[in-house]
Amino acid sequence: MDLALNNGFILDANGEKKALNIGIKDHKIFKISPGYLDGRETLDLQGLLITPGFIDLHIHEDKINDSGNLEIIEGRALTRMGVTSALGGNCGYNFTDIETLIEKINSRGFPYDLGLFIGYNSLREKLDINEYQEADAEQRNSLIQMMQTIFTNNKTFGVSLGIAYHPGISNKELMAIGKVAAEYDALIAVHLIGFPDRVIENLKELIAVSAETGARLHISHIGSVASYGRMEDFLKVFDQAWQDGVRIRGDCYPYSAFCTYIGSAVFAEGFIERLDCAYGDLEILQGEYKGQCATEDIFQKLRKSKPETLVAAHVMNREEIIKAIRNDRIMVASDITMNQGEGHPRGAGTFPRLLGRYCRDEELLDFYTGLKKITSQPADWLGLNNKGRIAEGYQADLVLLDEETVIDNATFSEPLLPPEGIEHVILNGELIVSQNKSTDLSKGKYMKYQRGDNNPARDFS
Ligand SMILES: [Zn+2]
Repeated sequence: MDLALNNGFILDANGEKKALNIGIKDHKIFKISPGYLDGRETLDLQGLLITPGFIDLHIHEDKINDSGNLEIIEGRALTRMGVTSALGGNCGYNFTDIETLIEKINSRGFPYDLGLFIGYNSLREKLDINEYQEADAEQRNSLIQMMQTIFTNNKTFGVSLGIAYHPGISNKELMAIGKVAAEYDALIAVHLIGFPDRVIENLKELIAVSAETGARLHISHIGSVASYGRMEDFLKVFDQAWQDGVRIRGDCYPYSAFCTYIGSAVFAEGFIERLDCAYGDLEILQGEYKGQCATEDIFQKLRKSKPETLVAAHVMNREEIIKAIRNDRIMVASDITMNQGEGHPRGAGTFPRLLGRYCRDEELLDFYTGLKKITSQPADWLGLNNKGRIAEGYQADLVLLDEETVIDNATFSEPLLPPEGIEHVILNGELIVSQNKSTDLSKGKYMKYQRGDNNPARDFS
C-alpha cells in the first residue's frame, strides 16, 4: 500500500458509522478492511470520518492572466473545503479558451480534477452576437459547428447557457443546442432568467427542449433563480418533468444572497421592481465601496464605470432555498465566483456549511443525505464511474473530516476564510490539504466526459 488510513470511520449504505481502514495503492482505493493496514505511509485518523472527495458540479474556474499564468485563488479555497473534482465553464462562460486551459492543466497540473462545459454565451460573443440579439440561421450553423468541434476534440460534459446574461438566446437556438447535446449524450446546464414573473415560463421552455431532443437538462443554482416566492410552483414543474420522463436535475447553494457582476443584464433597468428589492439589498464586494450597501447613486456609478465589480444581492428567501436543497433531485454546488480574491463566501464555505449547519446543527436533512448530494449523486449524473464512492478500485479521492466540528467560516468581508473540521483532503491518492493548509495545488487533471459510460437512469442512492 502506498498510503494506509487507520482508525477512521465510513458511513455505510444505511448511513451507519462503521470503523474501517482504507489502503491506497496506485492512486486507487485498494483495500477496505476492519483490520489494521500497513503502508509506505500511514495516517492515524483518530476517529475522523472518511468520505468520498466532494464533486462540485457548478464552479467558475480560476483564470489565466494576461501574462499567461494560471492564478490559483479559487482552487485553494475549493480544495480546502474538500473539493477534489469540479465542473467549470458554467452560466454560459469559459473565461479562458478551452484548448488553452487544457494545455495549461496538462503542463502544470491543477488543484483538483476539472471537467468543463462549453460556455454558449462565450461562443455567441466570439461571433459578436450581443446579449439581446437572436442568432440568425447562419450564425446558428456556426454555433452548432463550434459546439460539435469542441465536444469531439475536448470531451466536454455538456454546454452551459446563461440565459439571464443573454436573454436574446432564442428558442431556435435552444433546440439546436439540445440536438447537439443529445448527439453527445451530454448535459445542458442552464442559468435561467431569475425573475419571478419569468422563471417558470423559462423552465418550461427548457423542459420542452429536453423532452423534444432527449438532451439531459441541469438547472443551475436553483435558489438564486427561484427563491423569490415561486419555489413551490417551480419545484412542482421540475418534479413533474422528471415524472414525465425528462432527464432533469439541478443544484443549489446554501446561502440566501446571490452574487454577480454589477454590469450584468441581471441588473438591467427594472430589476428593483422585478425582484421586489431595494438598492440597499445589494452589498458591494469590491473596490472603494467594498462592504457598503448600495444606494441608487453608487449603483448607477459602478454599473457604468466599473461593471466588473462583484455585488451580493441579499434578496433570496431562506425557507425556499431549504426546500430546494431537500429535493431529491437537487444537489449542492458552490458556484464559486471570485474576482481577484474577492466575492461570495460560498466559494470557501458551501460544503462545510451544508454538513455543519444544514445537516448537523439545524437537522434540515440528515448527514448522509447531505453527503450524497456532493459525492455519489453528482458522480452518477456526470457519468464519473470511478468517483463519488468509497469502493475498491475507485480513484482515491477522499476527505477526512470531523463531523462534530465541521463548519464554514467564510463571510462576505472575508470570503476566503477556510472552514473548520476538514482535516485532510486526498486527491488521486495524494494528500493535497492537511489541517487547512494546501500542500499541493498541482495534482489535479483535466477530466474527459466518458460518453456512454454514465448511467443517468440509475436512481440516486
Ligand atoms: Zn450562474
